Formats: sequence, C-alpha cells, structure tokens
Amino acid sequence: MKTAPVNRIIPFSNVDGPSNRTAIFFQGCPFNCRFCHNPETINMCCNCGDCVKTCPVKALSLIDGKVVWDKNICVGCDTCIKTCTHNSSPKITEMSVDDLMKEIKKSAPYITGITLSGGECTLRKDFIIELFPKVKELGLTTLLDSNGYLDFEENKEILEYCDGVMLDVKAYDKDFSNWLIRYPQETILKNLHYLLKVGKLEEVRTIIFPDRDQENEETVSYVAKVIGDNCRYKIIRYRQFGVRDEQKEVLGDYTTDEDYALKYVELAKELGATEAYLI
Ligand code: SF4
Ligand code: SF4
Repeated sequence: MKTAPVNRIIPFSNVDGPSNRTAIFFQGCPFNCRFCHNPETINMCCNCGDCVKTCPVKALSLIDGKVVWDKNICVGCDTCIKTCTHNSSPKITEMSVDDLMKEIKKSAPYITGITLSGGECTLRKDFIIELFPKVKELGLTTLLDSNGYLDFEENKEILEYCDGVMLDVKAYDKDFSNWLIRYPQETILKNLHYLLKVGKLEEVRTIIFPDRDQENEETVSYVAKVIGDNCRYKIIRYRQFGVRDEQKEVLGDYTTDEDYALKYVELAKELGATEAYLI
C-alpha cells in the first residue's frame, strides 16, 4: 500500500474549497514561491537535527540519524519550524492510504468532501489514485488544490475519481514566473486549458502583488479570457504573513491595498470572468 508524508490534517475547514471539508496537507513542493506562506512544507526533512535541541518540551529526538517527533508531547509552539533553515518541518507523519482513511472517516458524517493540498499534492499522484476511489465510496467529493506542477493531460488517471482542481495561476509572463515561483509556467497554463476542457476546473487563484501593474494585469487578463463564466476566479491580495523575512524585503512587508486589488476583480469581470471575487 502507498504511503505519503502528511504535514497536517484539518478535519473541518471552510476555506479549502466549497462547504465544510477535511483538508490534508502533504509535505513537499517542487516550486519555491517567493510569497509562500508555509515554507516549512517545501522540502523533506534532511535530519540535520538542528531543531531537536530547541524544542522546549523535548518532543523531538534524533534516533539512528533520524528525527522522531512525539505528537503526544508536542505543544504546537512551532519553535522547531522557526529554527529550521531547510524549509522543512520535523512534524511529518508518513501515512498509508488506510491510515488516512481512518482520519477521514472520523469527520465523514460532518463534511461534504476532502481537499488535498500541500506543499504540492500531485507529487503524491500514485497515493491519490489509490485514495480517491475509497473516499468516493463514502459519498464525499474529492478536490485537489494544486500549483499546476503535474501535467494533467499526461496523467489523466489522477482525475478519474477527482471532482475538480483548484488551480493556482500565479504568472502569465515567463520571466515573471521564473522569478516569482522559480519555475516555468508552461505546464500551469496548459493545465488551465486542459482542466477547463475536461470539466475539472473547480476554481483558479491569482495573487495580486503591490506595484506590479503590468504583471498583475497580464495574468488576470489571460485567466479571465480563458475561463469566462465557467468557474470561480479568486483574486487574492498578497499578504506578508508567514512569508520568509528575506522575501518580505523583496515583495514588501505589507498587504496589497484592497482598492488596488479590486481593480483587477473589475478587470476580470469586464473580460468575462463573472465569478471573480476578492479575498
Ligand atoms: S512545535 Fe516543535 S518545538 Fe514546539 S513542542 Fe512541537 S516539536 Fe517541539
Ligand atoms: S526539520 Fe529542519 S532543522 Fe529539523 S531536522 Fe529536519 S531539516 Fe533539520
């Protein structure tokens, strides 16, 4: 049976897709977005041990060269995450599909579905292919929250039991994409078209950065023209919370002005994306 590294499970979330859902966050992401709010999900722990000595309640130990986390002792202070300089966390649980199903079943009577997030959930493609049919047997809906890394057309099997993908389109311009997310944008834009074509595009999200008029306009215009009124379009204000200090110096240590961001919601609507809204 497949396993996957799980960073966190939120049994009841109303911000990870429509209605009340269980949100599962996998560890690991191939991007390194400058604005990442949870950079501790980017890399797998390299077991350097630096965080072990900083834990105030001794919930961490280094055993045979591996960091072991005792969740029963942990008080959730996140000192370990603040200590880690590798964009990782020692609080990762390797879970099998059955382990995760046990957790999902606990909240199943109170939720409409599950959302897989991260990190980047599609890195765990084989695990998802095994998990989703079991989730559907419970009568729950299945969503992927993805940065668009995986080529969905080349990996159609992940969509068979998936109700929809919430896709980040962070940059239309190639150079801006390479700078912002440190990754090319071609597959992401291809996914935008493909997921729309096969009826699996649940929503699209774009972040509005302060004083980036040209890049903001290019990305919003492109997405709005492609999606029209076919799905939700979340226009999200850049927020500095959780962003690494060195990146705040580049992007700004403040939140995008609301009136500035609203201009792009209006632009999206003018171009046909009638379900555009600001968050
Ligand atoms: S969050 Fe990290 S540092 Fe804090 S108690 Fe838990 S393991 Fe220790
Ligand atoms: S979580 Fe970070 S600091 Fe702790 S052992 Fe892993 S890589 Fe080192």
